[in-house]
Order: sequence, then structure tokens, then C-alpha cells
Amino acid sequence: MTPARRRTLFERLKRANPSPTTELRYSTPFELLVAVILSAQSTDRGVNKATEKLFAVANTPEQIRALGLRGLKRYVKTIGLYNTKAANIFETCRILIDQHGGEVPRTRETLEGLPGVGRKTANVILNTAFGHPTIAVDTHIFRVANRTGLAPGRNVREVEEGLLLAVPARYRQDAHHWLILHGRYVCIARRPHCGRCLIYDLCEYADKVRYKRDTKDQTASSSRNRTEPRRSRRPHARGTRG
Ligand code: SF4
Repeated sequence: MTPARRRTLFERLKRANPSPTTELRYSTPFELLVAVILSAQSTDRGVNKATEKLFAVANTPEQIRALGLRGLKRYVKTIGLYNTKAANIFETCRILIDQHGGEVPRTRETLEGLPGVGRKTANVILNTAFGHPTIAVDTHIFRVANRTGLAPGRNVREVEEGLLLAVPARYRQDAHHWLILHGRYVCIARRPHCGRCLIYDLCEYADKVRYKRDTKDQTASSSRNRTEPRRSRRPHARGTRG
């Protein structure tokens, strides 16, 4: 993708959403750190439901240690892999208290030394809590970067390095959130909504024409269905998720 097209792409994403941010709810860097550790392979909505109750009673490393590991697990047990995630958070709290004065560290190396914190989580914290222009490549960003031709790569590290070169400097701070949201709601994994994609003309995905037709068919069919009487749903129908 040419530099001019990349600039246009981000200009459009910016115009549509001038101040993008994470959908995880947090009010301090520590809350964000806990939420991001919990969010691996889980939905932001599920994490927010759990952390809303957790942070009301414990939102500092000291308070979470005071809950005890079993107490912490009670708040996060609705989240996948909660045993491991709770153990990581509990140990992270101990390290923050013993080595960092109870604060979330601001360097990549120190962040990545915490249990449950890998490169992606460190990038999210550096970007969202501390304003660094990092790009955390998750499954959504990986897909969008490859499909659009913005920064093709065989693995997340290649895509991250490609994006850091490809994204114009003035958009780098927010690129992470624009691309995640685009992948989560428009350029979804199965049957992307190419027909309502605001960067359709810039995108280099070979199948976009087919999916644009699909989007139109879905739109037409859903407006037809609105004029038809509702039928009762089969109780255990499967395979209906797009
Ligand atoms: S045109 Fe389709 S494939 Fe390309 S970015 Fe938009 S939704 Fe994704």
C-alpha cells in the first residue's frame, strides 16, 4: 500500500472516530493492567462485568493481596482460564509492592517481567496508560493488517514491526485502537462487512468484492425479513453466528 493511501486510510478512521480508546473499563494504570491480563482470549464485556465488582472492593495491589488468592478468584471465576489469570495477577501484585512501590512500571522490559504480561499486554499498557505510540497486535489487528495490505506479516511480531513503519507518525498513538475496532466490528474474521467499510477502495483484500456483495445481500434480506411475520426460533439452532 502506498504512503498516500495509508495516510488516507488513517485519516478516514480518524474522522469516523477522533478519540478511540479501549473498551475495557479502568480508571488507573493498575486497573488497566489487571483488566488486560484478564482479557486474554476473553471478551472485553465479560472482563468489564467481573472487574466492575472487583475494583469496587479492591483496585490496588495491596487490596488485591488482602483479598487472598481464593478471594480474588471469586471475582473473576466467570472469565476463561481464571485460575491461571488470578494466580498471575496475585503474583504481579506482590512484585509491584515489593519492587515498584505499588506502581505499574513504565518500561517494556519491566512490564514483560511481570507474570501474565507478554509483549502484547506491555504494548497495551504503554500505549493506553502511558501514551507511548506502541501497537499491540492482537488477532483483529493481525487480520486487518494482512487483508488490507497495510502491513502483511506471517506472525504478530512481523506485523507489529510492519505497522510501526507503515503507520504515519501522527496516527501512531491511536492506530492500535482504530485497527482493533475496525477488525472487531467491520473487518470481522468470517464474512467481513466490506459493503459498509469506509476504507473499501483502499483495501487490497482479493475477496472484498465478493464480501461486498454478501453485505448487500444481508442488508436486503434483513429489510425483507422486517416485512415478514416473525417465526419462532428453534430452541437449540446452531451455526447462526456471523
Ligand atoms: S474492504 Fe473488507 S476486507 Fe478490506 S478492510 Fe474493509 S471489511 Fe476488511
